[in-house]
Amino acid sequence: MKITDLNATTVTVPLEAPLRHSAGCHWGRFVRTIIEIRTDEGISGWGEMGGGGESAEAVFAGMKAYLVGEDPMQIESLRWKLCNPTGSLYNNRNQEFAAIEFACLDIIGKKLGVRACDLLGGALRERIPFISYLFFRFPNEETGIGGESSPEAMVQHTRDLVDRYGFKTHKLKAGLFPPGHEVEVMEALHAAFPEDGLRIDANAVWSVETGLSVAQALRDQGLEYLEDPCWGLEAARRLRQLSGMPMATNMSVINFEQLASNARDPAFDVILLDTTFWGGLRNAWKAGIVCEKMQLNSAVHSSGELGVQLATMLHLTAVLPNLSYATDAHYHHLTDDILVGGKMQYVDGCLPVPLGPGLGVEVSRDKLDQYAELYQELGGYPYDRDPSRPDWYSVWPERNWADPKAAGLI
Ligand SMILES: [Mg+2]
Repeated sequence: MKITDLNATTVTVPLEAPLRHSAGCHWGRFVRTIIEIRTDEGISGWGEMGGGGESAEAVFAGMKAYLVGEDPMQIESLRWKLCNPTGSLYNNRNQEFAAIEFACLDIIGKKLGVRACDLLGGALRERIPFISYLFFRFPNEETGIGGESSPEAMVQHTRDLVDRYGFKTHKLKAGLFPPGHEVEVMEALHAAFPEDGLRIDANAVWSVETGLSVAQALRDQGLEYLEDPCWGLEAARRLRQLSGMPMATNMSVINFEQLASNARDPAFDVILLDTTFWGGLRNAWKAGIVCEKMQLNSAVHSSGELGVQLATMLHLTAVLPNLSYATDAHYHHLTDDILVGGKMQYVDGCLPVPLGPGLGVEVSRDKLDQYAELYQELGGYPYDRDPSRPDWYSVWPERNWADPKAAGLI
């Protein structure tokens, strides 16, 4: 089988409301680049990348010449052809390769009549529990949805998500407001949902000392772990030692070198595996196996997904032997998806692992066109800027917190 073509389409899909985070904001929509790889056997496969508010179409256009004529079943040789360590010093293609690998796995699965998870040894589970993933949101100016900053508003938002989707674990995207305010929000969540698991993710903007004060304040508040409270392995080791709190990361352990260092001298207890950050579903799975052997926990991270990447996350979650926690996803914040039939539907906080061959999802060409047109209309957005604070940019440890009492209208 030979690759005959690679097409990349940038789409933007609206969110229910803009999602604030410690580095800036998702300004009311996700921008994702959807790729389709075609072969001489008439089988095609889908891939996806994005997350930073920008199109990756131009990068994929430049990679087409590398791919045409290659066998999509030879993923490991493709990895070396596109991402060898010397070349990657100049043009880091790790995330682009992930999208290409997704498409190749989709093609291989369709050719063999097996699922992507079966190519990695088969599913250990078919129903995947997800978290609520709570963001402080700007209000959607058209619908009025969003606008949470107080503990009461965040509890109400969480209750709405629980009622609609059935989530039983809640993660607050923190590092935006003063840490004391975010502690109050967590305390309110624990009081409202005492049986549910809680997480707080500061995206590494706190100092070790701030992280310690948050850990001490939330010691009895149902925390599963602290997620990326501080930046880097050294800070996490100090905070882990000082706090005695389990630590998780999707920022400071995102490659095998860092994973080896973390295994030798632990800083993090839970490695949150991202199918894009790790350079594909296979690499994320391999990292999960290393975690299993080194008695580290693993779980699956979300870097902001539409249905194609969500499928890769479902297949990864299905095969990880040492999966210990519910999976992250931004997915429920989307108003629509590019899949035939629209968004996947949660039941009791869970999504099923797709049953069809390959990734098991079918992209709607009408939806692809619709949201490509919307991207043409709206363009990208600066993920690392806050629309309510145009002169601010994040410096770590953060000292310039957003004001939870500010109106925050975009
Ligand atoms: Mg995180």
